[in-house]
Amino acid sequence: MDTDAALTWVRGIASAVRRDADQLTQLDSAIGDADHGVNMQRGFTAVETALDGADLPTVGAILVKTGTTLVSTVGGAAGPLYGSAFRAAGKQLAGPAATAEQLLAALRAGLEAVQKLGAAQPADKTMIDAYSPGVDAFEKALRGGGDLTDAARAAWTAAEEGMRATIPMIARKGRASYLGPRSQGHQDPGATSTVLIFRALAEAVT
Ligand code: ADP
Ligand code: MG
Ligand code: MG
Repeated sequence: MDTDAALTWVRGIASAVRRDADQLTQLDSAIGDADHGVNMQRGFTAVETALDGADLPTVGAILVKTGTTLVSTVGGAAGPLYGSAFRAAGKQLAGPAATAEQLLAALRAGLEAVQKLGAAQPADKTMIDAYSPGVDAFEKALRGGGDLTDAARAAWTAAEEGMRATIPMIARKGRASYLGPRSQGHQDPGATSTVLIFRALAEAVT
């Protein structure tokens, strides 16, 4: 992945979030406070502005800028969580281009940052339930001899499966956890936006 692909990835997320903002907010209205689409759109619109004309010579610098902007513009849980993920991922990537292996390490660092900050475990019905299987599938595809495109597509598919698997879960983290068992039967908004992030990655490297 070179800096052009990284910019395509992040801008792709911004477009996807804009396109699906209503759906994200709808999902959050069922088990949260109906602002996930609004939060994500505000954040990624600010990211697009921050990337315009900035001097960002490495993939890492682009991702760190993305993360820092999300942290500073998004109130609510997802902003700091995604912001920390992009920052932690970016810090792994110092060169002008990143290999598939380096990107895997970066995605893992991002996942660890989310877990460190939010303390969610798998099956708590959060973004982790899409993010974690996404990273695992990315790794499995590389170990099986796949290239970056194969890995990113596998990650997208696995993240989508993880997103759907949140429907029967009882939320144990975030606002949805206030509902207890009444959170069952609803897809997690954050897991849904995580799929957009993996999808945009797959599209950027295809
Ligand atoms: P808020 O809940 O503050 O309104 P958002 O609506 O933007 O923030 O984001 C909600 C999403 O954040 C949830 O659907 C869930 O995926 C994710 N989330 C909430 N708390 C955590 C946590 N502790 N760890 C991981 N993800 C979390
Ligand atoms: Mg919300
Ligand atoms: Mg909120």
